[in-house]
Parts: sequence; C-alpha cells; structure tokens
Amino acid sequence: MSSLSPFIDDHGAEPPKVLLVDDDEVTLMLTAAALRDHGFQIAEAASGEQALRMLAQVAPDVIVLDALMPGMDGFATCEALRALPAFENIPVLMLTGLDDDASINRAYRAGATDFFVKSTQWSLLSGRLRYLLRASRMRLDLERHKARLGRAQDLAKMGSFDWRRSADGRGGTLLMSPEGLRVFGFGPGERLGLHTLLRMVPAESRRNFVRLLRGVLAHSSVLATDVPVTLPDTRLRIVHVEAEPEYNEHGQSIGYTGIVQDVTERRTAEDRIKHLANFDPLTGLPNRHQLIWRTERALQHARRMGHSVALLLIDLDRFKNINDTLGHTAGDELLIEVARRLRGCVRHSDQIMEGAVEAVGPAWHRKLEAVGRLGGDEFVALLPEVGDQRDAERVAQRMLDVMREPIFVGGGEWVVTASIGIAMYPRDGFDVADLMRNSDVAMYAVKNQGKNAAALYSPMLAGRGRERLELESALHKALEREDLVLHYQPKVDVRAARVVGVEALMRWQRGAVLVPPGDFIPLAEETGLIVPMSEWLLREAARQVKAWQLSLGQSLPIAVNMPTRIFERSDLVERIHDALGHYGVAPSSLLLEITENNLMKNLQDVIPSLHRLTEIGIEVSVDDFGTGYSSLAYLGTLPISEVKIDKAFVRELGIAQKGAAVVAAIIALARALGLRVIAEGVESLRQLDELHRLGCSLMQGYQFSRPVPAAEFEQWMRDAQLPRRVPQLGSALELDAADAARAAGGRFV
Ligand code: C2E
Ligand code: CA
Ligand code: CA
Repeated sequence: MSSLSPFIDDHGAEPPKVLLVDDDEVTLMLTAAALRDHGFQIAEAASGEQALRMLAQVAPDVIVLDALMPGMDGFATCEALRALPAFENIPVLMLTGLDDDASINRAYRAGATDFFVKSTQWSLLSGRLRYLLRASRMRLDLERHKARLGRAQDLAKMGSFDWRRSADGRGGTLLMSPEGLRVFGFGPGERLGLHTLLRMVPAESRRNFVRLLRGVLAHSSVLATDVPVTLPDTRLRIVHVEAEPEYNEHGQSIGYTGIVQDVTERRTAEDRIKHLANFDPLTGLPNRHQLIWRTERALQHARRMGHSVALLLIDLDRFKNINDTLGHTAGDELLIEVARRLRGCVRHSDQIMEGAVEAVGPAWHRKLEAVGRLGGDEFVALLPEVGDQRDAERVAQRMLDVMREPIFVGGGEWVVTASIGIAMYPRDGFDVADLMRNSDVAMYAVKNQGKNAAALYSPMLAGRGRERLELESALHKALEREDLVLHYQPKVDVRAARVVGVEALMRWQRGAVLVPPGDFIPLAEETGLIVPMSEWLLREAARQVKAWQLSLGQSLPIAVNMPTRIFERSDLVERIHDALGHYGVAPSSLLLEITENNLMKNLQDVIPSLHRLTEIGIEVSVDDFGTGYSSLAYLGTLPISEVKIDKAFVRELGIAQKGAAVVAAIIALARALGLRVIAEGVESLRQLDELHRLGCSLMQGYQFSRPVPAAEFEQWMRDAQLPRRVPQLGSALELDAADAARAAGGRFV
C-alpha cells in the first residue's frame, strides 16, 4: 500500500507539505525530522489555534494533528478546519496516544480522515501519510472527473440512474443523478420515482413501455428503448433508456444501473431522414421503397394467416399531355390533388413503422394499408387484407369515381382519368415483384382497351405483358450495342431529274431479323427510349452526310424522323448543333420530319424549338400531311418549310377521283403558304405522272428506291448517273414522266 521510495507517484512535483500540530515540543521536533527524512516538507504548529492561523499561508497537502492538546485539542481543531471552505476535504491524520475505540470514533466524527497511534515508527507514519495523500489525490481526480462527466452528461442531455429492488422483490427505489433528473425536467434535489416517471409517459405508449419493463425484469435482461415523456413544463421529449442488471454476490439480481438520454433532436433528425427515404416529397405519400417494404410485411402476415393481399397499380391517362400543356408546376399541383383523392379511398396510414410494426397492436398489418407513389403519374394502393377480388375492385371503382370531379389547376378545369391494374396474393403472385409486374400487365391491358377502367390480372394477359417487357429491355440493349441501323430512301425531284436528299429510316438488326420501325418505335415512344434513340439518329445522320460528301462529292441533306418528345428538350438545338459541329457539316444538311398529328397535338411545346431550329438554318418538314387536323391558316404561321403528302393519298391517285382532289388541294395550299411539297409512297409511274401533273415534282417511293443500307444507297447513286443540271422549265413540263423516272432512278423502271 505504501511505497517507501519517496514520491514515486508524485509526478515529480514538489515534496508534499505536512502541517504538523503537537503541543509536545520534543515529539514535534522528532516527528518533523523523521518526516523530512522521508521526503516531506514540514510546517510546525504548537497548538490548534496556531495551526488554524497558519493554514492559509502554509496551504498543506495533509495535516497531522495531535489529539490531546491543551486549549483547543485535535478534535476541536479538526472540526474548525473542516468548517473552512478550502479545507473541507484535506486529509487529516489524527495522532492518538491510545488505541481506544472512543477516541478513534471521536476523531472520525470530528472529520479526521484517519488516525495513527503515536509511536516512533516513523516509516510507518510516513507510509500512512503517503497513502492518505494518494487517496486524497484520487478523490480530487475523481471529483474533477465527476464534475467533467456531469458537464459532459449535461451537454449530451444524459444522466445515470440506479434502481434497487425492494426486499420483497415487488417494487424498487429509483435513484436518478442530477443530470438524469434534468433530462426529465426535474431540479437536482427533487425526487423522481418510477411511478411519477411512468405517469410522464403518454398514455398511448405507456402500456407498451410497462409491458417492456415487465419483460426485462422477469428475465433480468438488458433494457434499451426510446420512450416518449411529457416533461413537467408539458414539452414532449424522447428519452433513450439503457440499463443493465446488477447482481449480488449470490448471483441474485438486485436492480439495474443505467443511463437516460434525451434523444429528441437526434430522433427528429432521424425521422426526417427516414421520412425522406420513405416518402415522396411531392405528394407526401409513401414512395416505392416504403411501398415495397409494406407489401413485403403484408405478404409475410398474409402467409401466416392465410388471407389475400391486393396490389393496385394506378396510372393516370394522358397525364403527359396535361403536364406538357400546363407546365410542370401545374402538373405537380395536379398530382398532389390526385394523391389526396386516392389516399381518401383507402384506410391510409402514414406511420413509418419499420422496426416497430408489431408494437402497434394485434391488427397491426392493417396499418400497412396505403396509397403510394411510384414516380411520375404512377400510384400504388396496398390492401393488406382483402376478402376476395371484389374488395379490391370496389376500391378501384372508388378511385375511378373520385377522379371524375374536375381538378382546378393552372387556371383551368381538368378531368384526369386513370387505368388501374389489380394483382392479388396468392392468386396472381407470391412476392412483391410478381404482384408489381402482374398489376402492371393488367394496367396495360386497361390502357389498350380504352383506358379509364380497372382490370384484374389474368394469366392470359401475361404473355403480352412479358413480351412487351422483353422487347423493352432488348431495345435498351440494342441502343447500347448500336444494333440500330439506318436505311436510306432517296427524295427525287423528277422535274430536275435529280436526287435532292434522302430520308433516314430506322431498323433494328435483332440477330438475323431486321425489325421494321413500326414494331419498336411506338414502344420506344411510350417508354421514352425514343429520346436517346433520336439523339443517336441525329449523330448518325450527321456522320453519314459527311461520309457521302467525301465519297459522292455531293452534299445530300438527310431527313430524320423526330418524335415530339425530342422537341421538349430545352437543349435540342444545342445537341443538334453539337452533332453537326462534330462532323463539320452545315445545318442545312439536316431536315427534321415531324408528323402533322404530333405537331398539332403538342403545338405549344414544339413551336419555340421550331423557331430556334429555323434560326440556325435547320428545316422542318411536316410528315404524313393530310392525316392530321391542322388549322390551315395556322400552318402558315409556323416556321416550317415543307409538307409531305401522306402516302394514303398518293395510293388513291389514279384510282379515286377524290384522291386527286385532296392532293390538288394540299399542293395549292402549300403553294399559297410558300411551302415546298413532296409526295411519299410513290409506287407507280401512274402516280408519278399524276403528281407531276398536279404540280408536285418532289417524290419519294419504291418507284425510285426502297429504303436501303448506306452502302447500297451509295451504289444506287453511282449507277443512276443522275444528270446534275436542271433542264429548262418548259421542257421539264413536257418531260415524259417515264423518262424522268428513268433519269431519276433508272434501274427501277
Ligand atoms: P414515315 O416517316 O412516313 O416513313 C415512310 C414509310 O413509308 C417508311 O416505312 C418507308 O419505308 C415507307 N415507304 C417508302 N416508300 C414507300 C412506297 O413506295 N410505298 C409504301 N407502301 N411505303 C413506302 P418504314 O421504314 O417502315 O417506317 C415507318 C414509320 O416509322 C415511318 O413513317 C416513321 O414514322 C417511323 N420511323 C422510321 N424511322 C424512324 C426514326 O428513325 N425515328 C422515328 N421517330 N420514327 C421513324
Ligand atoms: Ca418520315
Ligand atoms: Ca410519312
């Protein structure tokens, strides 16, 4: 216990100071000398009174007091110095002449730290002093540490507690540290019993908390939980409680010690993060992640209990059109309103329950019921327990009904309809993925049959659904692997007897099969894949223009077919510009074709792009002209340069009188508006002749060439040996159509 080598544990500091108090001068002198020998600094006092006077000045580390002194004896001196603020904790060793219990007890009562029977065994005394000093320093450290801990705990809003079981084992005493009391809104001296504490837990959580405590106590297990409490000042806080059981030497549990911590802020932040991760920020509905989680839990429960689960996939009809017309802000507003209506159709519960779902009670799985948003205009309803398909159909019908009311956004009234696909566990699928896929299949069936309705999944639909999915993913890969190819068909000016350009038509080289655009372009448009495909198309066309410039010594403008979606891109013009710039070709080398239908349906979105395209010198042609319902007057105001007569009218030329009338009208209109006019689908000399007669000399069709790969087209150009010069206008009018055709694409006549 005592190390005799001086101050080994003294961190090299000054020798400890001892104030030695004894009325016996000889003892005083001898003791002082002995202690100095042992490495102490000594201050001597001959009486209690003198000792008290010297205290402040000497500032001793330890005091050695003779118990028996005339006047103020050791006991009185000890009591007096203990009353001084700076000395309440200083170690005091009382020297007693006799080893009797009475004076020892008296010494302790007076506040002495230890006693020592007067003797001449100086080394014993010095050992004892050193021990006292070490203990005192440890106590000081501990105190400092505790103060620091207290502060740290305060900062962390954390405190500690002890709970001791009562002897009868039926209750216990709770002792809370001041910091712990503060967590619960209590002052340092106040008492906080377990019952008071439980009363602070809001009623709806109390039962669960008590149940949890009972369970923990019954098994002497570790407690770790978050519990809401209402503080005396009515603030609601969340307190984290963690406790471990304590045992006596017989291994019996005697209570718990633990910590409490106010985790409200952390929990709020966590909740916010959880909320972001689980809910759609626009509508506040559960997002895809949360829905999948809920569905998984619902399925687990349904498997155990043997009931059915329904998943409804709700997709708005033509939302894109509305969104495009209204702009995104109003589109968002509309989605928010739709979300509000849809959630009203189910017992929607917003609670995030991850980790705590069973705690909600016996019918907890019902709380999983919700409407969520998968993204865009796609919503999902989860019905965690349904009797049969009719329950699900009823909910779907309710949803279709609530959509009937017009929605006011963007200064107008809108009626939005939806297509709903229903899939049920276990009938239509066993897991979330199956149910999602099959409700999707059912939803698409509704879309194909005219929208605004609900349908149950049936395996009959699956074939088509799967096919579509497979096609979609295959198309994705085709784009990545550049399995898309362009075929080219010449545009011929029969009057000038020359090729004035080509149209690029896309094909998909799917293994050995060349898939025509009609089989994949509609899907690409539906899925949005058309956008990257069109970007590829633009680059590829620009590259081909350049290649032909080099190989044919001629700049042949390439017409590319553009979906409306591409005109929505704000960076369309820049992208085209980049593609052209990359291959060093002029803007006039590209002609964009947009169908009349698409143009008219999305006029407002397309016009700004059209203007900017014209500004940089890129021409726009209106494809399939005559099939849409353009306001003719409007056409003149649009920045377009060409109309392409739809092949349906060309087909009728020379067959029905009506065909010629329409074509004549279109040509007249185009002329009046100063637009170029071209006819497509020219398959016979008769049609060629008739068109020419009506005043349309630009043509395209099998009569000249089918769309062919680039190399083949190049060969065709070389073979055709087209006259480059424009013949005289007069002779052109008399030009035999057959000659013109021969001149334009000789091989094919
Ligand atoms: P479209 O733009 O009207 O293209 C003309 C279609 O008529 C082409 O069909 C062409 O092969 C065909 N054709 C040409 N001459 C004749 C003829 O004399 N008689 C008949 N009966 N047909 C003729 P294709 O290549 O199957 O393309 C069909 C449609 O697919 C195109 O109609 C166009 O709307 C779309 N498409 C083709 N390529 C692309 C593309 O790269 N992007 C986009 N967005 N759509 C494309
Ligand atoms: Ca076209
Ligand atoms: Ca066309």
